[in-house]
Amino acid sequence: MNSTGFGDQIHSFAAELYPICRSITGNGLRETLRRIGERIPLQVHEVASGTQVFDWTVPREWNIRDAYVKNSRGDRVIDFRDSNLHVVNYSVPTQMKLSLQELKEHLHTLPDHPDWIPYRTSYYREEWGFCLSQRQLDSLLKDEYEVVIESSLEDGHLTYGECLLLGETSEEILISAHCCHPSLCNDNLSGVTVATFLAQALTSKPRRYTYRFLFIPGTIGSITWLSRNEEVVPRIKHGLVLACVGDRGAFCYKKTRRGDAEIDRAVLHLFHHSGKPYNIRDFSPYGYDERQYCSPAFNLPVGCLNRTQHGKFPEYHTSADNLDFIAPAALEETFRYCLELLEVLERNCKYRNLNPKCEPQLGKRGLYRELGGYPDSEIRELAMLWVLNLSDGENSLLDIAERSGLKFTAIFQAASDLLQHGLLGPST
Ligand code: ZN
Repeated sequence: MNSTGFGDQIHSFAAELYPICRSITGNGLRETLRRIGERIPLQVHEVASGTQVFDWTVPREWNIRDAYVKNSRGDRVIDFRDSNLHVVNYSVPTQMKLSLQELKEHLHTLPDHPDWIPYRTSYYREEWGFCLSQRQLDSLLKDEYEVVIESSLEDGHLTYGECLLLGETSEEILISAHCCHPSLCNDNLSGVTVATFLAQALTSKPRRYTYRFLFIPGTIGSITWLSRNEEVVPRIKHGLVLACVGDRGAFCYKKTRRGDAEIDRAVLHLFHHSGKPYNIRDFSPYGYDERQYCSPAFNLPVGCLNRTQHGKFPEYHTSADNLDFIAPAALEETFRYCLELLEVLERNCKYRNLNPKCEPQLGKRGLYRELGGYPDSEIRELAMLWVLNLSDGENSLLDIAERSGLKFTAIFQAASDLLQHGLLGPST
């Protein structure tokens, strides 16, 4: 894997967002969206706490200013200012004095990884707690401790960002990334940053499809979006959830609930021809927001792209999922792969052979052999023969690529040449 330097730009955007204490609501999420909005046209939506969204209710808004545990000498032995992972996300405001024994009931560690801080949340249960490394816990002495959590949990809003890039048609491609985790990189910032750079790149490209990028809090965000946009749903033709796409592992794609959607086939095709290791998983109702997009009433063709899957790397949901865990080269490879995938979807049209009675004479049109000299001339001829033969208005270019075993790019190039020479026309 190589980075041309472009990966460094994605990585440094992750570094910019890394210190922000995000959650499923609140100012950290807003600040993240504000910074995304400095790079791409982003509409920010605010949905009031208490709003019913299908079977769920938009929660109260959580904000935090400071939090710590002090020993009797006044030292902050656990300090939110050192890492926002130290506080259980959504901890209710707290101020009290406790013995070590009592305090321990509210402390979370990872004994197997004694230097890492776990990431814990308590969105739907009014709780408070601190997370710390096992080593830090082991160093706490018998003492009276003062616990302060300067947070607020009040009626407010759930915030999400939406970037809509209009295309030639109103048919849409949905790209979704969750942005509700605090200082965590692969699970959260890799998807957020790659999606931002993709949207930025697409703004200057010709687009057949309309693109909708969603930057949302996980689960409640996609549920909220779906409940407010049911009329958009039928226009979504393809979709991709991006999460855990910055680590050094091979790509892993989780298929849509349908299992044979065009995006599933396009991903498989590109993986197959990439010559690199990859993993494919069937749909399961466990993971990221594809669970909501693929719920039975919507059943959208939305897959999920990861590198190493959530839960399959020990750094997952710990302080070790940091800026070193994600690599510029991996972020860049993901970005380029997504662009390639979107290009296949953009170009995957059906055509009709305008000279379907036997093969047209390619030689007199300069399409045969005269391409000799190109190292890939044989492939180009073969691709033309496949496109001519299968372009009966029923087969898409991806169908032809799959059946011929040739790369989509070769099939597309052949179709472009044939179109130019008037041998191919639109399917209808
Ligand atoms: Zn997560």
